[in-house]
Amino acid sequence: MSGRENCPDGAPRPESAAGSPPALLAVFAHPDDESLASGGLLAWCAALGVRVSLLCLTHGEHGQTGGGAPRPGARPLRQVRAGELEAAARMLGIARVRLLDHEDGMLPWILPARLEADILDEILRTGPDVVITFDADGLYWHPDHIAAHERTTAVVAALGGRAPALFHVTVPPGSMRAVVDHAARVSAARRLPRPFARSILGVADADAFGAGAPAPTLVVHARDHAAQKLRALRCHRSQFDDCALRFVDEDDAARLLGAEHYRRSEVGAQGDTIVDRLAAPDAGGAGSAVGG
Ligand SMILES: [Zn+2]
Repeated sequence: MSGRENCPDGAPRPESAAGSPPALLAVFAHPDDESLASGGLLAWCAALGVRVSLLCLTHGEHGQTGGGAPRPGARPLRQVRAGELEAAARMLGIARVRLLDHEDGMLPWILPARLEADILDEILRTGPDVVITFDADGLYWHPDHIAAHERTTAVVAALGGRAPALFHVTVPPGSMRAVVDHAARVSAARRLPRPFARSILGVADADAFGAGAPAPTLVVHARDHAAQKLRALRCHRSQFDDCALRFVDEDDAARLLGAEHYRRSEVGAQGDTIVDRLAAPDAGGAGSAVGG
């Protein structure tokens, strides 16, 4: 059976070099990163039979609490976000979630060797053909995201000839501004009584996403999984409910959330992977390569 044999839906059937289904590990910093940055790709891979795992380095316990100060007796945000992450992972078809307890906001100041040991441990447990993490811009220059990028890249580089392929994800520039503009139009059309939130998952400046990001080498248009990505984002209620993404409905999801940008890392294996195949122009016309 060829690794490029088509599935019934026309997408390439995934297959690792050894003939077993490939495995993908996503390494992110906070609950919701996986859905916003890579939800389309993760859902698409899972639907094709790829074993998708997620390593999340913090509980995001210093994120916004959703609707102001926590009520007396309310569950701590770290618990809430752990539950939201589990729900989002189920929505995306992620088979395994490992949620670590590093302090939110402190990843750049944790000993690099500690983070690298955690990331290496998860790579050894899950045996991925492909690892996905942030690029050097950390989606919007978030220090935790940049630390995850640096530590994951260092671990993959140190694996030498045993390393999986490594892809860095960035948010398409202007895409979150398009979400805010869409929210403004919907809000005006509905004559909503109060101003709508212009933030994206707690990030006030939508233009920060993708600003100055390294150029992608692959674009994945996960149109058929964009609604699933939106539903996964909705699982992160504490961050989602007061944000411009709330105005995106499933009919808009493919246009506003379907495209994801990836860059092949200089380190790690360089052969053909499921990500290359989904982004290839012949993958049902669903993706595209953008040079390099
Ligand atoms: Zn994050």
